[in-house]
Amino acid sequence: MSDLRTRAAVSPLRRRFVAFPTRLPTVDAVIAAERPEDPMHCLRPATVAATARAFIAAFPGDVLYAVKCNPDPAMLRAVAAGGVTHFDCASLPELRLVRQMFPDAELHFMHPIKARGAIREAWAELGVRDFVLDSAEELAKLRAEIAATGVPGRPGLIVRLALPKGDAKLDLSGKFGAAPDLAVALLRAARPLTARLGVSFHVGSQCLDPLAWRDALALAGDVIRAAGVAIDIVDVGGGFPVAYPDQDPPPLGAFMAEIEAGFERLDLPNARLWAEPGRALVAGGASVVVQVQHRRGDALYVNDGVYGSLADAGVLGFRYPVRLIRPDGAKPAEDSVDFSLFGPTCDSADAMRGPFVLPADVAEGDWIEIGQLGAYGACMRTAFNGFDRARIVEVSDRPMLETAGYAPIVIRLAA
Ligand SMILES: *Cc1c(COP(=O)(O)O)cnc(C)c1O
Repeated sequence: MSDLRTRAAVSPLRRRFVAFPTRLPTVDAVIAAERPEDPMHCLRPATVAATARAFIAAFPGDVLYAVKCNPDPAMLRAVAAGGVTHFDCASLPELRLVRQMFPDAELHFMHPIKARGAIREAWAELGVRDFVLDSAEELAKLRAEIAATGVPGRPGLIVRLALPKGDAKLDLSGKFGAAPDLAVALLRAARPLTARLGVSFHVGSQCLDPLAWRDALALAGDVIRAAGVAIDIVDVGGGFPVAYPDQDPPPLGAFMAEIEAGFERLDLPNARLWAEPGRALVAGGASVVVQVQHRRGDALYVNDGVYGSLADAGVLGFRYPVRLIRPDGAKPAEDSVDFSLFGPTCDSADAMRGPFVLPADVAEGDWIEIGQLGAYGACMRTAFNGFDRARIVEVSDRPMLETAGYAPIVIRLAA
């Protein structure tokens, strides 16, 4: 007989996390000392904390961090150090991890399709009180499973609204969300069962257009009026963009202005605004340092790729800021070249067209720091082809690209 084992991408901490070291090294110092042959994830906790603080200061409601974007305990700790006390979780392992780290945090189970056992554990053991849904079946499931635990109380229920496809880099309405008619019916059906009733939507990730929130709020308003029930929460989701070398989003304030104006037009004086930013809080908070293993023309073969932390550089063609690190070699060439990258696996799809602009003389053995990878970077790694080894270190460097609207302050974190 064989043992059934579980392999997890997010798992509860096995040991207590250590307090912040008082002084963190720089990326250059780490690379010079370690000369790593595995990808090195460089986390910038002070950047994440400052960014979270700036977002909270700008947003007129509760800020829920979307944990899927980067569930690394060091990142969660930095987000919390910036003042975040609400967490948008999509799975039981995310909920367990956040609950273990922050016993007093408010956890929200924001996946519209949940396993029955996950609902029971969330409600009865993890103290989760808010659940999202986009179907009558999920409403019935939530009702039955919460009742089955015997733990009294009424859940908060948030109806996820589908949006027409917009201009976001990643559409998130193809799969989840209720069409307006269904959303109206769900709000009416959920009202008598719930402690607090909300509407949510997601405009899509890396959405560069503030008007997307105006339009989505207008649609939410139509649905709310048609339903004719009291609404306690309007959740404007995530999708807030960050800077990449080829993308320069409007400042954060432009998004907040549309959200504030759109919310006022709904005329719901007793409702509270929520947002679920992921990328915006953590993208600048990590980079990965890869090593060049081979150069073939203007293509560099490096030790991380689309099956590792560079997934979005593959099919989606995301570009990231890059920088050569050559601790003790020759001074880099002054002229630069548009490079493409290949990852380490055997799959021809493990290719990143970039372009990644680097000094013309990049050679085998050099390191390249690739920035803005705090979001949807390390958490996307797979074990394909055995290239799942990576190291992780906390550094004091600033982000490789600043995003407009976030205070360029780096706050000191208490030990
Ligand atoms: C992924 C996701 C988020 C975070 O999106 P970002 O684009 O990273 O801000 C928030 N809410 C939901 C429901 C999501 O699926």
